[in-house]
Parts: sequence; C-alpha cells; structure tokens
Amino acid sequence: MGDDVVVLVDVDKSYNGYVVFRGLNFAVKRGEFVGIFAPSGYGKSTIIHLIAGIDKPDRGRIFVDGVEVSSLSEKESALFRRKRIGIVFQFFNLFPTLTALENVMLPLELMGVKSSEAKKRSIEVLKLVGLGDKLHRFPAQLSGGEQQRVAIARALVTEPAIILADEPTGNLDERNAISIFELLKEINRDRGSTILMATHDKEHASKYVTRAVTIRDKKIVEML
Ligand code: ADP
Repeated sequence: MGDDVVVLVDVDKSYNGYVVFRGLNFAVKRGEFVGIFAPSGYGKSTIIHLIAGIDKPDRGRIFVDGVEVSSLSEKESALFRRKRIGIVFQFFNLFPTLTALENVMLPLELMGVKSSEAKKRSIEVLKLVGLGDKLHRFPAQLSGGEQQRVAIARALVTEPAIILADEPTGNLDERNAISIFELLKEINRDRGSTILMATHDKEHASKYVTRAVTIRDKKIVEML
C-alpha cells in the first residue's frame, strides 16, 4: 500500500436495494488534497461514511492508515476514528455548551492527553485557523464560517492520518465557503495533512485541491 492512506478494494454498497457503489476501487495518497465533486444523491456522504467506518460495505475491503476499517466492530471503529480520522461535517457538529477551546480539547482529552498539553495544542490549532482571539466563545457566539473553523481545528488537533470533509461549505455563504477552501488548502500545503473533501461546489473548490474525482456509473473516476 506504501503511500496510500486510504484504499478501497472492490467495494459494493446498497441501501434497501438501491445500489450506490458497485466494484468501487479508490485510493488516497499521503499528502493529497482530493476533492470528490458530484451532485447531491450520488454517494458523497456514503463514501465518507464508509471510509470513516460509520457505515460498512456490503462487499469489498476498506483500509485506512493500514488498518482494515471495514472489518472492525462498531466499538473498535469508534476508537480508531477518534485516534486516526478527523471529520468535518456540513453542520459543524460542535457542542453548544462548550467553548471553542473546549470543543477542540475534547478529542485529545478523550484520548487521555493531559489537560495542560491538550490546552496548549488546541490553542495552537485555533490560532492556525484564525481564531486565536475567540478561544472562549461559545458556538452560538461565532459566525457559521468561524464555527466551521473550530470544527476544522478539532479535526486537526489529534493529527489524524486523514481529514474527511463532507460538504464543509454546504451551510456557508460564498465568501465564507471560499475562505474554508483556502484554509483546507493551507492545512494541506503547510502541515502536509491528507484531506478528502466531498462537495457539490466544483466551481469554487476545484482550484484548491491537488486531485479531483467524480462519481460515475457507481464508481469513483478521475475528473479530467
Ligand atoms: P450525497 O452525499 O452525494 O448527496 P449520499 O451518499 O447521501 O449522497 O446518498 C447516496 C444515495 O444513497 C442517495 O440516493 C440516498 O438517498 C441513498 N442513501 C444514503 N444513505 C441512506 C440510508 N441510510 N438509507 C437509505 N438510503 C440512503
């Protein structure tokens, strides 16, 4: 597998008889920022959920960072996800009763990192995403774009093998969407983080990624 962080081998996935993927083969290399561009309903969330181990394939094998996530139990999957995968969702999914800093510290604390160290690392990534002056704000006191920056900081702070972003700008206006794409590009370029981002917004996002793919005939194919 070498440089591949994510590998899908001959994967089939259906929901109640509706085939989303058939014979899907796909890989993401370390250091790539891959964009999956496809309209709504084509399977973007499905592929993110399969790689994250939130959902299982009907057939085929899925590896992340050398571990076969498709064969893990639900509990093992949750643990692996916490340690090795960062996920950014459309609706931010922050804890409303925790501050920005506490939201980012949480995954580290769940991993057993001691509080002072978790705080130091969390402040560092919050600064990186441009929120060094808003550490103690609650999600409701932040704009949508800022909330998504907190979510990105939270995904980054554990230094995962891959960051999965599922329509990260789906709930943002155009200006904020562009700044999130720019931020993800910076994180990929400057920190070497591997990122897989699913979005319908090819128009704005395509110039930021290092490789673009799309979904066609129940498979992922390169976009030329
Ligand atoms: P996208 O993210 O590109 O909008 P999805 O991966 O959410 O697409 O969905 C792909 C297809 O699978 C859609 O037709 C959707 O209705 C169907 N689907 C997704 N999740 C489920 C589910 N849990 N149960 C039934 N059908 C689902």
